[in-house]
Amino acid sequence: MKHKLKSPEFINPFLVRSLPAGGLVEQGTVKIGSETLSFDDEPYPDGTCVRVSIGRDFYCESLVEIEQQRQERQRQREQREERERELWQQQREQNKQFNESLNIPVAWRPEYKPVLSGLTENSSGNGHKCNTVYHILLEEELHEGRLHRAIGQPLCSKDMGSFGELVGWHDPSFEVEVTCRTCLRLAKRWQ
Ligand SMILES: [Zn+2]
Repeated sequence: MKHKLKSPEFINPFLVRSLPAGGLVEQGTVKIGSETLSFDDEPYPDGTCVRVSIGRDFYCESLVEIEQQRQERQRQREQREERERELWQQQREQNKQFNESLNIPVAWRPEYKPVLSGLTENSSGNGHKCNTVYHILLEEELHEGRLHRAIGQPLCSKDMGSFGELVGWHDPSFEVEVTCRTCLRLAKRWQ
């Protein structure tokens, strides 16, 4: 908690320029350079290391409290990050389970078709469109009844063209859910 200090009668510009500055509480006051500042309220005990700063008024804060606040902020940040990691992990796990439930009989991966339009407003930072549709991209040939697909084709279409060299942003730690409706409709036969 910041303690307010009494403003000196004459505000020395050298004092103002030297702030924030460290000091020591002695006899209920803090000395910064040649200026002695006294507390507006209950002073810290003598011997407390403080930092004096200036805003609307002169303020004084103990270094121990500053450090405690810093640690508290860090603790909160770590908790928040931990929670985000958990949510991310849960989402990944859900996506993985969903993809596995499709029971595709050959090797495949969820993949999007790159759009070579460069970065646009609705891109995420890595150049992927946020509304990208993820297909079932076959990593092995598929022949089932009248359904024939070559390696590298999506389940939904023979004619979609190459998914291109750009594809391969497939970090195995990043499990995305298949969202192409046609792919999902065709995959129903294995369920
Ligand atoms: Zn598809």
